[in-house]
Amino acid sequence: MNGEVVGQVKSKAEATEIISGAEKRLTKILGYDYSLGGAVSVSADLGEAGSRRDEVETAIIAGVSGVRGMYAMEVGGEIAGASENPEELFGVLKDIIAEYTTENTTDIKFMDNITVRQAFVSADTCMDMSLLRTLLEPSNKSSKYALTVESTRKERRTEDVPFTIEEREDDTIYVGDSYVFTPGEHGQTLITESNTYINGVLRSALVLDSVVIKAPVTQVVAVGTKPLSRSVSASAGGYIWPAAGVITSGFGYRQLSGRAPEHHKGIDIAGVRGQSIVAAADGVVTYAGILSTYGELVKIQHGNGDETYYAHCSRILVSVGERVSQGQEIAKMGMTGNATGVHCHFEIRKDGTPVNPLDWLP
Ligand SMILES: [Zn+2]
Repeated sequence: MNGEVVGQVKSKAEATEIISGAEKRLTKILGYDYSLGGAVSVSADLGEAGSRRDEVETAIIAGVSGVRGMYAMEVGGEIAGASENPEELFGVLKDIIAEYTTENTTDIKFMDNITVRQAFVSADTCMDMSLLRTLLEPSNKSSKYALTVESTRKERRTEDVPFTIEEREDDTIYVGDSYVFTPGEHGQTLITESNTYINGVLRSALVLDSVVIKAPVTQVVAVGTKPLSRSVSASAGGYIWPAAGVITSGFGYRQLSGRAPEHHKGIDIAGVRGQSIVAAADGVVTYAGILSTYGELVKIQHGNGDETYYAHCSRILVSVGERVSQGQEIAKMGMTGNATGVHCHFEIRKDGTPVNPLDWLP
């Protein structure tokens, strides 16, 4: 071949077999049907038929221009790149491992079948190590040689521990009301996990250890047990009930979910829309209209200087300056202003200060 003897074999038939074997390998290396044509000649000669078939085949392949014997990196049985120096190929793999290693990494490996070995490669094989790095990059979705890196990391995180709520009965608070004495606080748990990542994306987690580093604080809530009066009957302390219904919220401090404790300046009497609201005592109307969170509001000034409020009305039936008598219908029940249900918010104010209406109603 090319004027040099590449081997001696016993017969012409064997030489033909070797040439056709070499052509098959070259076809695979170069990626197209390759024929040696007249490049290899066979001639009879005296001497020893001492050459091994694979050595002759290799010598023929090495003699073809455009074919180079190098170190090749195969991924899944296909050559991804080649170099004269195998350390360059290993260096690319180490780069990728370094990219996916953190200070918490306990184990890291490629999931692919990667081999580096001596092989004949065609001239158009990737021999540029930075290009090979790009071809092997696990996040490179357009490369068929993109590798898969599985790593395990030992990581810590904290998790909130919910607090418990303890209810204590309190007979100074009306039924239906409650007050938070001690606000609850979340606790914290430190969790140590062994996390498995594929190409840097968390796949599975295994809890190794869990330690409470801050205990939760129990929330203590006072729950009212003081009975509510529900009767609408004759006047005792000068007043009658402005409406019939269930008292859904008493006078004093109360806590609505998600809000700060607030002072409730009256009582809430729940009823149905359009139900009658009557004057609790004789008096003169001093306000009849909308007033911020009260919604539609009626205020009545009484002879003793007290003032009563009737709020969240759906309709007002009196006007300012009008004289009203005890039991006279002054408005219809509704839920205007800041109200979550149909009710009459009723206040009694003495010298402008709200007092507990239940102390003054029959
Ligand atoms: Zn109210």
